[in-house]
Amino acid sequence: MDQNKIGVFISDQRKIKGWTQSQLAKKLGVTDKAVSKWENGRSLPDLSLFPPLCSLLGITLNELFAGEKIPEENLKEKTDQILMEVIKNYLGYDKKIPEKAHTMDDSPSACNALKVCHVSKNYQTGPDAVLAVNDVSFQIPYGSFTGIMGASGSGKTTLLNLIATIDTPTSGEISVGGQCISALPEKDKAKFRRERLGFVFQEYNLLDTLTVYENIALALSLKNTAPHCKISETIQDLSKKLGITPVLDKFPYEISGGQKQRCACARAIAPNPDLILADEPTGALDSHAARALLDTFLMLRKDYGVTILMVTHDALSASYCDQILFMKNGKMETSLIRGEKSKQAFFTGILEKMAQIEGGDPYVS
Ligand code: ADP
Ligand code: MG
Repeated sequence: MDQNKIGVFISDQRKIKGWTQSQLAKKLGVTDKAVSKWENGRSLPDLSLFPPLCSLLGITLNELFAGEKIPEENLKEKTDQILMEVIKNYLGYDKKIPEKAHTMDDSPSACNALKVCHVSKNYQTGPDAVLAVNDVSFQIPYGSFTGIMGASGSGKTTLLNLIATIDTPTSGEISVGGQCISALPEKDKAKFRRERLGFVFQEYNLLDTLTVYENIALALSLKNTAPHCKISETIQDLSKKLGITPVLDKFPYEISGGQKQRCACARAIAPNPDLILADEPTGALDSHAARALLDTFLMLRKDYGVTILMVTHDALSASYCDQILFMKNGKMETSLIRGEKSKQAFFTGILEKMAQIEGGDPYVS
């Protein structure tokens, strides 16, 4: 992937739209400096920004990665090659076999999959400053399923992006599996994401040109933890558990939203990460598929000891969690622990808490 070429391409396409760097930055919710860096070939946009950037510029993802308009007849040929490069670039390469992340020493942080300590994020947009995350502290033990709730604009996605190293805190510390990530150099972030984190987003993020099997295998082969036969074994085992064995040879566009989301789960969990981050994972699913996905999370926790942090605005989804953290205006307002309560009782408790915090306003994403 040619960073300079992509930069020039972004710049050209932006000019065709008649926008300044600053106007494009505003539309994407990033700083002017970020756009300037992309256009100078000094950095690439974060993966999460690719889709909105493409739709703003009216280009396809493949064209963005290739740094040029691709004639239709060449499209198929280029697609796989480019997407593979992008994913490898995002997750990075790894030559050595990584150690298992959690070494159990006596320090309290080693018992937590995640520790967030006085974290703040301040966005400076022009003369105005937005304190999107305001002095937030909490911990998540290994094997827990934690939900983050809060009205739109309360800072949920920003917080998740900070934990995912997609964004950097203005102050405070974040540790995953005992490793402090807040000050991680840019070059080590891909390695961190690859080894320690799994992602499940609302938009599935499966590669359309790879089969379901290949999508899952990709995450494993990049991590280089297992020989080839082990990869196949892991995928077969996970697929059976997730009920996606019959669709392993299909392409993402051939399967339902619910199946796609379970594939995304398989891909997220396959490399055995310390923490799975999910941002509104049920947002695009009907209620039946949403329940199936939440049951999948419960199964992954029970059978694989997975730790999950899920942002949701939906009380029903949240009632599957064992604790809920409520955000308001960037602050961690309060929390609710399920304990021995039934799912129904916890659901009612969540609704009451939401009404208390927001004065009865329904949560909207
Ligand atoms: P939520 O996910 O809870 O809806 P967000 O984390 O997306 O909330 O946003 C929290 C606040 O931070 C909002 O006021 C939003 O406008 C602001 N914000 C988020 N991202 C940026 C950014 N890149 N630049 C400036 N402000 C931002
Ligand atoms: Mg959000």
